[in-house]
Amino acid sequence: MTEAWIAYWERKLQKIEELCALASPQHRKSFYSERVVPAKHILRTVRLKADVPICWGASDCVEIADQQCKAGKHTTCETHQDGCVLCQAG
Ligand SMILES: [Zn+2]
Ligand SMILES: [Zn+2]
Repeated sequence: MTEAWIAYWERKLQKIEELCALASPQHRKSFYSERVVPAKHILRTVRLKADVPICWGASDCVEIADQQCKAGKHTTCETHQDGCVLCQAG
């Protein structure tokens, strides 16, 4: 059930991102914040609930989190290893 749920949101996010890419430049920014970001947040939440590591380097990152942040405390993707949000928050 959980895996199917994750796959469902992965597909949904992909579709929304495709639509976002097709949006005209002046609409793309609002489309991103209104449609893409919420879908990313849901995907992160369902992964978290399923104990799938998520990247703490950015609140809208949905990359595979197979690295540790510099402090070695949180999971991040390769790109965000240096910018862990949880560590910066204190
Ligand atoms: Zn990341
Ligand atoms: Zn950290």
